[in-house]
Amino acid sequence: LEIHIVPMTMGGDDEQGLLLVLQDVTAIRRLERMRSEFVANVSHELKTPVAAVKGFAETLLAGAMNDEETARSFLTIIQDESDRLNRLIGDILELSKIESRRSPLQFSPIDLPAFLGRMAELLSPEAGKKSIELNVQAEEGLFLEADEDRLGQILMNLLQNGINYTPEGGKVKVTAEVVESGDGEEELVRITVADTGIGIPKKDVPRIFERFYRVDKARSRSSGGTGLGLSIVKHLTELHRGTIRVESEIGAGSKFILELPLLQP
Ligand code: ADP
Repeated sequence: LEIHIVPMTMGGDDEQGLLLVLQDVTAIRRLERMRSEFVANVSHELKTPVAAVKGFAETLLAGAMNDEETARSFLTIIQDESDRLNRLIGDILELSKIESRRSPLQFSPIDLPAFLGRMAELLSPEAGKKSIELNVQAEEGLFLEADEDRLGQILMNLLQNGINYTPEGGKVKVTAEVVESGDGEEELVRITVADTGIGIPKKDVPRIFERFYRVDKARSRSSGGTGLGLSIVKHLTELHRGTIRVESEIGAGSKFILELPLLQP
């Protein structure tokens, strides 16, 4: 609570008064704290790859360059870390764009089975590398009104995670169906991305949509994650007036359930 006392003159006479303002600043302070935490997190996340690039470049210049095999492995690290930096910067910019509502959604009818098929096809090389079976099951003729690019981002993130957090030989499955909203007022499209992966501990489930939150930092890093994917997914889902939730069991797999209105107003 912030208290401001402002002296003031009352009426026409010389009578003096005090104006007492009590302001509940909890929400403002919380926002400020979140913002400064985010900046601190971003700085930390950016510093790690920059430090690696600098360190390996220095070591190369100090002599490691003379051994071709060493040089090649250090340069590969520099390349990977630069890619990582790029992904991070891209995700940070994307989040800030979404949050500032600078680019409104462009809704159009999307042929969902065809769309999901294309998404799966884009990721099939990656799934193939880990012998993961990736399949799509959607009702023929199911059209959803959504922003196609944004819906693509949502699905790419969910599918990518499914592949990243599933061991070799596992399965990732996308299904789409029409369901009724809880209050029966509206038709929703439910898109489920289910994997047979490592699962998410109960205590972490409520936090995985937070920016930079990861269950296992090392694992996320080695699979190229930025820790921002799910917070982008959540924002984009909300912009579509949709919801997203997770059901997961350690060692058995995770299911991300996305529900979007079939039609936009
Ligand atoms: P990241 O770039 O680390 O994957 P995300 O925001 O996409 O970041 O996800 C946040 C965290 O949630 C991940 O680091 C991981 O711990 C967990 N997670 C996300 N998807 C899955 C999944 N399909 N299976 C298991 N854990 C997952």
